Amino acid sequence: MSPGLLNDANTAQAAKVPGDSLRSPKKLKRTKTELAAMYQCVRLMVQMNARACVITQLTGLPSLEVRDLWQQIAGRSSPSGQQPNDLNWYLKTPTRRYHSALIVQLYVRALRTMPEYAALTHAYYHYGRITGSMVSRGVWQERGDPAFRASEKDYEISFARAHFICKSYSDELLSTGQRKCTLKIKRCQKGECGGMYMSTENEAGRYCPLCTG
Ligand SMILES: [Zn+2]
Repeated sequence: MSPGLLNDANTAQAAKVPGDSLRSPKKLKRTKTELAAMYQCVRLMVQMNARACVITQLTGLPSLEVRDLWQQIAGRSSPSGQQPNDLNWYLKTPTRRYHSALIVQLYVRALRTMPEYAALTHAYYHYGRITGSMVSRGVWQERGDPAFRASEKDYEISFARAHFICKSYSDELLSTGQRKCTLKIKRCQKGECGGMYMSTENEAGRYCPLCTG
């Protein structure tokens, strides 16, 4: 993992995420250039095993068209299955904690200059590259890029789960002063570590899972 990437997005300020950061796409009339950029992202998302229903939600393109594109690009049909709905899942292992914090930070940074669908595509692509050494070469070599793996199971956090946490995560507070989202990205307070990890407001401890263990 590149320390530079994390350091840059390391301040609490940089991790501030507005609520509803992945709103449904507005049905705006898009220019040719915007459409070309969107289809380029769709291709990348398919190569990263994003499910057709997630691509549909992100882009606002018709579901049938996205399924056809999926088939054309991947030569098989989109994986399906239950959509993620459990935020505690991201806390269950140290790797999930680090990876989900990384994805949200990459996403928030990309969102400064891109629409949601492109920000998530870029964030997930970088996530795939950064974590490529964790999987065997066999799952991506044919495709020529560690971000493009054989199946969504070849990522610690699938695109569908990345989408769910980016859509759910927020640093905003309710009028009661409580956080809107139960999850909270924290920075490890041990010495020089400073690693960012997913936690909750109430979770005890000031160290990341690696420094705690
Ligand atoms: Zn640490």
